[in-house]
Amino acid sequence: MRWDEQDPLAAFRDRFIIADPDLIYLDDSSLARPLKATRDLLGRMIEDEWAGGLVRSWSHWIDLAQRLGDRLGSELLGAETGQVVFCDSTTVNLYKLSMAALTARPGRHVIVTDDANFATDRYVAQGIAARSDAELRLVHAHPDTGVDLRTLAAALDGDVAVVSLSLVGYRSGALLDMAAVNELVQGAGAYMIWDLSHAAGVVPIELDASGADLAVGCTYKYLGGGPGAPAYLYVRRELQEALRQPIWGWFGQRGQFTMGPEYDPAPGIERFLCGCPPIISLTAAQPGIEVLCEAGIEAVRAKSLRLTELVRELAAERLPALRPASPLDPARRGAHVTFEHPGARRIVAELADRQVIVDHLEPGRIRFGPGPLATRFADVWDAVDRVHTLTKGLR
Ligand SMILES: *Cc1c(COP(=O)(O)O)cnc(C)c1O
Repeated sequence: MRWDEQDPLAAFRDRFIIADPDLIYLDDSSLARPLKATRDLLGRMIEDEWAGGLVRSWSHWIDLAQRLGDRLGSELLGAETGQVVFCDSTTVNLYKLSMAALTARPGRHVIVTDDANFATDRYVAQGIAARSDAELRLVHAHPDTGVDLRTLAAALDGDVAVVSLSLVGYRSGALLDMAAVNELVQGAGAYMIWDLSHAAGVVPIELDASGADLAVGCTYKYLGGGPGAPAYLYVRRELQEALRQPIWGWFGQRGQFTMGPEYDPAPGIERFLCGCPPIISLTAAQPGIEVLCEAGIEAVRAKSLRLTELVRELAAERLPALRPASPLDPARRGAHVTFEHPGARRIVAELADRQVIVDHLEPGRIRFGPGPLATRFADVWDAVDRVHTLTKGLR
């Protein structure tokens, strides 16, 4: 296909392990493919650092979570060093930062999120409300277009301590205006927590420049860290001293190895750590970040938009049974596009039988999330062709 011949990122496909060349994989929005570099690096790490260095390797493992955080932050999240660190899962980090923010806003007790947000984000807020005097306020978001800023503004008052939203909606793909939301939420005297899970590595993000307070995200989607890869969190430097997270562990302690009698949180981003960092998983998370840095986030975003626009254009021509369920304006979308059909579950299962992997989401949604570095435009064309064959009789 001509677009593939002219694609400046085409050569990156060769960096990935493509176990089955006949399989069309459009589900980086759930789990990206592994890189050859990840396999090689893990092998070397186990041989040289674990087997060779043994416990001595802790001398450089000890701050790997911070170093990798600085790399991700400065290259892909728009964050100066000392504000991003890898730790725990996104769920646990949401809990830590939500509790820290609530505690830092005495007299305010409301957590705001939206009813289309990812399940774990809603559950964490529910859990905090269930065991404290905090209250959850759910803002209604349109299932196709996401949170409307006027609806959000109407939910903000002097009781709100924290607002937690996804930068890119996991189902619709709706992309929020980070700077506008920060201004709105901070103007109401609350802290803003961003979930970057569906945005990092595919959408240019400016945490510092947009004045963001707090953020979390996972690394197993477009960042390619592998199943269950460690998550990360961001805390703006000026807030670090004032915030205390609820899980007091030895990796968050000032002078960790003194092992003193009382918990005294470290002055910087380290205070948001709990226990031992997962060194093998952190090692596996590095190449996915590096390959995106090498390709350049602007080029990745440009290709991602062309891929999802191609899905939408071909679907409009050839898949009349599928109703578009994402923002129409590409500038308001992340890296995936979603369609609605009542038989979505069956269509996705039958597509898998025909060697096309996409995602099924309730209610009745089909999500196409092509990874910009490993997906060819021809893959999109072939995938839509197979969906066409499957659905041409359907309405
Ligand atoms: C994938 C995803 C998560 C993942 O949470 P984990 O606890 O790391 O499994 C969280 N939030 C959003 C919005 C996601 O898309």
